[in-house]
Amino acid sequence: MTHPAQPTASHFINGEYVEDTNGTPIPVIYAATGEQIATVYAATPEIVDRALSTAKEAQKAWAKMTGTERGRILRRAADIMRERNHELSVLETYDTGKPLQETLIADATSGADALEYFGGLAGSLTGEHIPMGEDWVYTVREALGLCVGIGAWNYPTQIACWKGAPALACGNSMVFKPSETTPLCALKVAEILHEAGAPAGIYNVIQGMGEVGGALVTDPRVDKVSLTGSVPTGKKVYAAAAEGMKHVTMELGGKSPLIIFDDADIDNAVGGAINGNFYSSGQVCSNGTRVFVQKGIKEKFLARLAERTGNAILGDPQDEATSFGPMVSENQMNIVLGYIEKGKEEGARLICGGKRADMDGYFIEPTVFADVTDDMTIAREEIFGPVMSVLDFDTEEEVIARANDTEFGLSAGVFTNDFSRAHRVIGQLEAGSCFINSYNDAPVEAPFGGVKASGVGRENSKEAIKHFSQVKSVYVRMGDVEAAF
Ligand code: NDP
Repeated sequence: MTHPAQPTASHFINGEYVEDTNGTPIPVIYAATGEQIATVYAATPEIVDRALSTAKEAQKAWAKMTGTERGRILRRAADIMRERNHELSVLETYDTGKPLQETLIADATSGADALEYFGGLAGSLTGEHIPMGEDWVYTVREALGLCVGIGAWNYPTQIACWKGAPALACGNSMVFKPSETTPLCALKVAEILHEAGAPAGIYNVIQGMGEVGGALVTDPRVDKVSLTGSVPTGKKVYAAAAEGMKHVTMELGGKSPLIIFDDADIDNAVGGAINGNFYSSGQVCSNGTRVFVQKGIKEKFLARLAERTGNAILGDPQDEATSFGPMVSENQMNIVLGYIEKGKEEGARLICGGKRADMDGYFIEPTVFADVTDDMTIAREEIFGPVMSVLDFDTEEEVIARANDTEFGLSAGVFTNDFSRAHRVIGQLEAGSCFINSYNDAPVEAPFGGVKASGVGRENSKEAIKHFSQVKSVYVRMGDVEAAF
């Protein structure tokens, strides 16, 4: 019998599901059991061309609609997503292995927020009037054209909407390629947008590995590329986009600091560290994986952290009682287990976890290392799994310097009850998305993105509009034209 996760077809192009079994088969594995639940096929060159040409064509009429008309469609799509939240959350759980307890509140709902927010903004995207004496300049905020979205595997619905919603609000069309590891959810986003009234071709989804992404990025018809992925992939995609002078948004990896001062509320700080390391089994780019704890409270913090981490419920992710799911894939599990071994070899003190869980699927126990030093591999490289490194510090000045000593700059957090210190420290941290007495909140109203190697551009908020549109300026002369001859 066909598994309920099996999609109607691999691609969604020009308003309909499209299959082409000539492409490389991509097995979809349910991470909680290791069983194959679906198959999709990578896009062939013909499929890539069809996706791009229909999106290019559809964009012209879409950009001519009023913002209010476009916004109405996006807001209708948001409503449909919310109505179908349960079904979409179950699918997200099959796609990623994340527990239903999370997906019910963090995925289709977050996608719907983006559709609603950018749908609401679409009607108010205007230019400026700039007086020049009797003359004037006016500006027009125009669409970029055809945008490509390429997603990572940790938030397949959210990423498809975070890119699609602002792109479409501004009058662009989009071809979206999900990660080959999680190909299912973006198809539902395309289906729902179509049902909500988006014209055929405005939002196409095609499957494939990096080479399909590469074909999209280098195609001369494409005006912008928005990638969520790792830093090495980001460098390749950015370079390829530069060849065609395309606009880019790069949402890349991180190794973010979470700084806990000795006056912080310990339980809130432990909660922040748990949210910033173990949500989605640690597969979150903005995670605060270097937890700097001021020496005086270190042992108290570790004791409370170990106690609360022990309450994680590993199990069937489709059971709402489960609070901690598997790694997305066997490959990712092995990468993370490799980092855990490195942590042990390099002398970090294992507080809890530290191994694969004794059950089916790709589960790793939530793992905490203490006495981690800045030079250890687990403190330097992005792990993308449930591995928290706790480092000690003495002074504010010292911890700021150490927190910034990384190529990454996605996020940073501070826990303290001294608000002057909180703002002073955050002001000096090299990171794009920061938190005070909290961690990993990502509402659509707030800009999201990194500095340094963690990225270029911002998603969400009004900032995203700037990255999916361009400004035309028009000088209007009222009098005669003076010329030298
Ligand atoms: P990858 O960088 O491996 O892949 C990201 C996407 O790019 C995938 O769809 C991939 O396809 C595609 N791709 C790979 N090579 C190319 C290429 N040469 N040209 C075009 N596209 C290409 O990341 P992961 O999927 O492994 O995701 C994890 C990473 O994403 C982490 O490093 C994490 O930090 C980052 N991330 C960043 C976020 C942010 O907002 N800053 C949010 C979430 C994750 P395929 O996988 O099918 O080969």
